[in-house]
Amino acid sequence: MLALVKTAAGPGLSLQDVPMPVVGINDVLIRVHRTGICGTDLHIESWDAWAASTIVPPLVVGHEFVGEIVEVGSNVNDFSPGDLVSGEGHVVCGRCRHCLAGRRNLCHSTIGLGVGRDGAFAEYVVLPMTNIWHHWPGVDPEIAAIFDPFGNAVHTALAFPVLGEDILVSGAGPIGLMATAIVRHAGARHVVVSDPNPYRRDLAMRMGATIAVDPREHDLEDVAAGLGMVEGFDVALEMSGVPAAIRAAVGAMAHGGGIALLGIPTEEITVDLNPIVFKMLTLRGIYGREMYETWYKMTVMLQSGLDIGPVITHRFGYRDFEAAFAAARSGESGKVIMDWTT
Ligand code: NAD
Ligand code: ZN
Repeated sequence: MLALVKTAAGPGLSLQDVPMPVVGINDVLIRVHRTGICGTDLHIESWDAWAASTIVPPLVVGHEFVGEIVEVGSNVNDFSPGDLVSGEGHVVCGRCRHCLAGRRNLCHSTIGLGVGRDGAFAEYVVLPMTNIWHHWPGVDPEIAAIFDPFGNAVHTALAFPVLGEDILVSGAGPIGLMATAIVRHAGARHVVVSDPNPYRRDLAMRMGATIAVDPREHDLEDVAAGLGMVEGFDVALEMSGVPAAIRAAVGAMAHGGGIALLGIPTEEITVDLNPIVFKMLTLRGIYGREMYETWYKMTVMLQSGLDIGPVITHRFGYRDFEAAFAAARSGESGKVIMDWTT
């Protein structure tokens, strides 16, 4: 089969013929239809310090996908060839304290699809049956391809109650953009999106933001006051990983507010703890998705009218992967989809 492979330590990816993945007795084999490009794939492609310390080549990359089951292992009863499915990209151990308690998102030895095991930028991918999400008939296949980052957005957006609350979305990358639509759907009052990138601020307005501001030009506390918030934001969704953005969010919170931290800083940062203490803020780290409460909520929110369609801005055939990666890297994009069927 053809797959996008990190063949050796260093920049770049190659489209190569590789052996078909082996299907274990608890696994399903999926013919990949469409995939989404994640920031993680860009890190692996460019071979930054994180990639160099994490990735062991050769590796098939990619973890956001939708496809059709073509074969199941002998222990698998709940899935059949022909099922349209996506995969939870975190393969958990099943044996640790949290896994045994059903809190699989807290597993202490998660292995990432396309990071610690061969991934989904390929004609075929294998996953354990416990990592499979069965889509309902009629799901938009492009939306189905991005259930993994959509799940990051849902997990973060619903970490604190948002009904009637004023929300700050800090960073309007694909995940911040989806979170904007989610908190709007979930009944937030004001949704302020902060991002220096004008292309993404425009997209944020299409996703339902009340206002999208450039943090270099606007002080978030002034923006909050201008919208009539009495004390500040009730909930912040930190989706940039940028130190200045985290500090600005802390400064603009109302007493008792909650900050859900999804963005991954690339280095150690300093934050003044005084406002966190005196405003009695709750900071909560978010990693991945809850298995499978987040997936359930993704499904029912789409079925009840949530529209995240505008986040998908570019589509490429898999042979044009270099152009697809360039579009994802440019910042002049939302989510970039690759089609593996043509
Ligand atoms: P992205 O890098 O495309 O988006 C980040 C956005 O932050 C960009 O649009 C950028 O312009 C913006 N930004 C830069 N400086 C800013 C500032 N001062 N204030 C506000 N915004 C600023 O990434 P994405 O794919 O949407 O992912 C968002 C973040 O979440 C990244 O840090 C990513 O590494 C992280 N992530 C975490 C998980 C997890 O499980 N915790 C999963 C996936 C991604
Ligand atoms: Zn575990």
